[in-house]
Amino acid sequence: MSLNLCEIFYSIQGESTFAGLPCAFIRLAGCNLNCSWCDTIYARDDIGLSVEIDEIISKIEVFDSKLVEITGGEPLMQKETPILIEQLLNIGYQVLVETNGSININTISNRCVRVVDIKCPSSNESDKNLLTNIDMLTDQDEIKFVVADKKDYEFAKEIIYETNLKKISPSKIHISPVGLGSNYNKSLYNLELLSLEELAALMVKDKIGARLSLQMHKIVWNPEKRGV
Ligand code: SF4
Repeated sequence: MSLNLCEIFYSIQGESTFAGLPCAFIRLAGCNLNCSWCDTIYARDDIGLSVEIDEIISKIEVFDSKLVEITGGEPLMQKETPILIEQLLNIGYQVLVETNGSININTISNRCVRVVDIKCPSSNESDKNLLTNIDMLTDQDEIKFVVADKKDYEFAKEIIYETNLKKISPSKIHISPVGLGSNYNKSLYNLELLSLEELAALMVKDKIGARLSLQMHKIVWNPEKRGV
């Protein structure tokens, strides 16, 4: 049984409540979305290398890390992904899965931490959000909104307060600014991007039930660098 793999690497976890921890990453190839500000275009457009699940696990074992993230692209596009997750869990890994929120998260074990995106309007993919995923979240799952402008922020705020997300701990709901030091798609240039200070001020004013999350790996390394 195999998966289409983009890359495997070992680095610092840059997002989620696990940010800052050393972590092994399995980046799977391909995505069903086309976000305007996609920062992993190389994975989105990659058909990947077909690699057996046992071989993927062997490559991870080399890092001697018990924390592993499966990301993409969109990892839930591949029907073998739940099997990889199950096998990693069964041999004692703590598994994080980052998904774009357009696919049912109940296809994967709720023993892993599911970090689910909710796409905001500036992504041009907000109509693909599968909001029924919100009802399936467990205590250990996390949510991420990538926010570019005020419209995105208001969209995130409405979802946080008008859905079952209000039952989730604010510490596990991430508002992450787009474009931190990076060279994103030019379509963003037509937006009035919120500065970090403006975004923080809005969150404080609203006492929003969410945390401001910066992509740590893009602060530590050059934002364009792969494999970190
Ligand atoms: S879901 Fe992720 S990989 Fe897919 S287009 Fe959006 S940002 Fe890129």
